[in-house]
Amino acid sequence: MVQLFKKIKHELSYGFGASYAPYPTGITIELNYNCMFRCKICQMWKDDFKNTRLVGDKILGKDELLRIIDELSGLKVNYIYFCGGEPFLRNDFFDIVGYCKSKRIYCSTISNGYLIDEGLSEKIVASKLDLLGISIDSASSSLHDEIRGAKNAFYRATEGIRLIKKKQTELNTEIPEVFINCTVSSRNFMVLHEIVDLAKLLNVRRINFNYLSVLDSKTVELTNRVMGEKVVGYHTFSNIDTEYLLQKEQVDQLDFVIENIKKKCGSEIKCDLDPALANKNKELLLEGKFAVSRCNIPWKSAMITPLGDVVPCAMFTDYKMGNIREETFSEIWNSKRARHIRRLLSKYLPPICQKCCMVHTDTPSLVKKIYYKFRNM
Ligand code: SF4
Ligand code: SF4
Repeated sequence: MVQLFKKIKHELSYGFGASYAPYPTGITIELNYNCMFRCKICQMWKDDFKNTRLVGDKILGKDELLRIIDELSGLKVNYIYFCGGEPFLRNDFFDIVGYCKSKRIYCSTISNGYLIDEGLSEKIVASKLDLLGISIDSASSSLHDEIRGAKNAFYRATEGIRLIKKKQTELNTEIPEVFINCTVSSRNFMVLHEIVDLAKLLNVRRINFNYLSVLDSKTVELTNRVMGEKVVGYHTFSNIDTEYLLQKEQVDQLDFVIENIKKKCGSEIKCDLDPALANKNKELLLEGKFAVSRCNIPWKSAMITPLGDVVPCAMFTDYKMGNIREETFSEIWNSKRARHIRRLLSKYLPPICQKCCMVHTDTPSLVKKIYYKFRNM
């Protein structure tokens, strides 16, 4: 009931373009910027990214994160998405998840799956993490490894899923829900249907097909200009080679490709198609744009970076509403800076919003939460 009232209040505050917002329901926490992969579709592993983002400061430690989770729990935040980097590179990851679970907060993360061996699969299942996405971009090991820039990436990710499934069978549990997270690009578009076969083979019941985000410098400059300050800096999606966007001859095959995927998924696999693909707006797809008219994310959520900066969303990474080391989350949430950006966003949509996928704010449905609550008892 509390969450329902909160949802209504969010809708009202957003609908009326108010700058104040009720406390959020979900939060994204970036745990680190470390990753052993060299993905073609991500800049996180590049020195330029680290040099602009970390600037020598220490990332949030376990105690700091537990303190933040305490406060968020008190504010009735019921969902935390942990992202990175590669989350399993943090050896305190399961302490953090365990603490969230003790507060009944729904937790999700996405991993490249490389580190999942027997021991880690056991920890994953024991942690009661609710939702785990494993990035797999192709059912062909060579293509997946090429896109991800790491040898054995495919083998380790699929083996990781097998180990988790084995452990779940032993313990008679379905938690975490494991899904395949596939980034759709020109490189894998024509073989996406093969991922459905792979999911069936691995006993995975859900696939997220996300369209690639590519940030060009012109969009970033224009966004910073209309927002009146630097809200976006060097991003994980900055300057990704546009050859990874769908090409004309592929977009012409869109209907066929989508129908094929849906047919293969049938009722066995839940197929979460990125709205950019599902809407079938071919012109936008060619330009790597998403059909966004307005966005309510900064009214109902926020992201905390590894250095403790609280930013409105995963794109406005240079717009600091405050820092969690200096102020509490509740002080930051409706601070002058937070209200300023909501005010701007209620008036117009900056160009970057059309390049924003914001795919991971998957708040669980009420039915799912009740189901998990009973499974956890
Ligand atoms: S996309 Fe994920 S796996 Fe690839 S380099 Fe970036 S953080 Fe690592
Ligand atoms: S960048 Fe994305 S999440 Fe942020 S306001 Fe725009 S559409 Fe929303």
